[in-house]
Amino acid sequence: MEDRARALFSFGIIADVQFADIDDGTNYRKTRRRFYRNSVALLRDAVRHWEETRVNCVIQLGDAIDGHNKSRDASEQALDTVMAEFEKSSVDVHHVWGNHEFYNFSRETLMASPLNSAGKAGAGSDRAESDLIADDIYAYEFSPAPRFRFVLLDAYDASVIGRDASSEKHQQAMKLLQKHNSNADLNTPPVCGLEQRFVKFNGGFSAEQLQWLDRVLTLADQRQERVTLFSHLPVHPDATDPICLAWNYDELLSILRAHKSVAIFISGHDHDGGFCTDASGVHHITLEGVIETHPDTNAFATVYVYEDQMLLKGNGRTADRVLKYP
Ligand code: ZN
Repeated sequence: MEDRARALFSFGIIADVQFADIDDGTNYRKTRRRFYRNSVALLRDAVRHWEETRVNCVIQLGDAIDGHNKSRDASEQALDTVMAEFEKSSVDVHHVWGNHEFYNFSRETLMASPLNSAGKAGAGSDRAESDLIADDIYAYEFSPAPRFRFVLLDAYDASVIGRDASSEKHQQAMKLLQKHNSNADLNTPPVCGLEQRFVKFNGGFSAEQLQWLDRVLTLADQRQERVTLFSHLPVHPDATDPICLAWNYDELLSILRAHKSVAIFISGHDHDGGFCTDASGVHHITLEGVIETHPDTNAFATVYVYEDQMLLKGNGRTADRVLKYP
């Protein structure tokens, strides 16, 4: 592997910690074990690793605490436990929101919580007119280093769980969901292929967010920047089980394909992980979930950024990858 000291900068990624102070359980299909209590110990190891390797920032890809906390009235406490681990390091952490954030908290509560890291976008960033986005959408961009741009997306902007039941976005999302999913339990997927993505625990991107993203990427094209995007939900069918795919993944993909600045798309949500390289050369990485990772191993990565490529150094069940730019 190339000399890491020569990297322009580096960053850490971790997904689906889903901490809860409860005994181990299983996923919905009972095919995978979930290590609810131990997940924070794996996060601790990752944070220690990033402190030692002096990464420039960390992106937490969503589902930091598990939905089980809600019924136990332990949401605040669980979030404090997870945030305390991040606070042991001086590295800036950027948080993406997943479905489990919304099982625990309302959008308004999240906006005022330590999981809202949009304020960190200002540092080292030349925030432009592209930054203007509605207050109720949690998406932002920043430049981690000259000629590089990071974009954090809100995959529950157009969804049932990410929006208050009285809102128009909730009603539109419910209509779309019920058009594709006739099950009594909307968390049970429709039977067929990519249609399986129409479940309540997924969501999508509003037209407003897609227009904002298009503006951000247009500016990045003009500035000849390399863009990395982060989202809880994957958007490429070859990088995930279809049951974890964003509802309007196709709209998002067509925007990515229209901009030469786009290099890498990183998501969580599918705990088994996934990877593909799109025909356009953009790499789609779905990071393995910490919650379904055995206490003897781990699942996180450090990405070293160079002029011509990124080197993803995986830990535990996350594999190393060489990511040449398109
Ligand atoms: Zn999720």
